[in-house]
Amino acid sequence: MQNLPEINHCSPNLKAYWCAACKAHNTFDIKSSRTSNGTTWTYHCKACRFSMFNPSDVNPWEKGLFIFTVLAFLIAIPLGLICLVKGDTNSNSFSLALILAGFGAFVGPIAWMMNKYMKKWNVWRSAQRRKSPEQLTQEGMNHPFQPEYESSGDFTEWAQQFLTPEEVEQLHLKYGRGMFIPTDQ
Ligand SMILES: [Zn+2]
Repeated sequence: MQNLPEINHCSPNLKAYWCAACKAHNTFDIKSSRTSNGTTWTYHCKACRFSMFNPSDVNPWEKGLFIFTVLAFLIAIPLGLICLVKGDTNSNSFSLALILAGFGAFVGPIAWMMNKYMKKWNVWRSAQRRKSPEQLTQEGMNHPFQPEYESSGDFTEWAQQFLTPEEVEQLHLKYGRGMFIPTDQ
């Protein structure tokens, strides 16, 4: 805000990456890493290096994984118990119960982590929404971290979360040194 009055990083935006540690839409460094499934990108807060998340991306995953975990245990526990009572532990049903319980135990903590961060986001978002535009501006001005202009792809991606491509182009013209060619007087 102090360096870039166009963007308030303390104003909640569901589609923008958010740092749960700094409680703001701080600027980030995007890091790519190659896995067997292709390339994945992580967004690291410029203030604290914490990994940021996009609430609108995480929300459906959190709900889906949570439902999957509940269903897996709802099937696995009674099925496993029935097999145990019957002494039928070599059956396919018992194997299925073990596999489902295993999946649930693996996915459950991921869903729980997502839920934990989504809760922090929701608490912050509702608190911010109760504030007036003036209060939000004041908070943006006083936040310990102040985003700064950079002539980089990461900065452009950050700015595009809040502004249209044309407005981002204006930012580059306004702040980008060497990119702005003044007209002859
Ligand atoms: Zn941070």
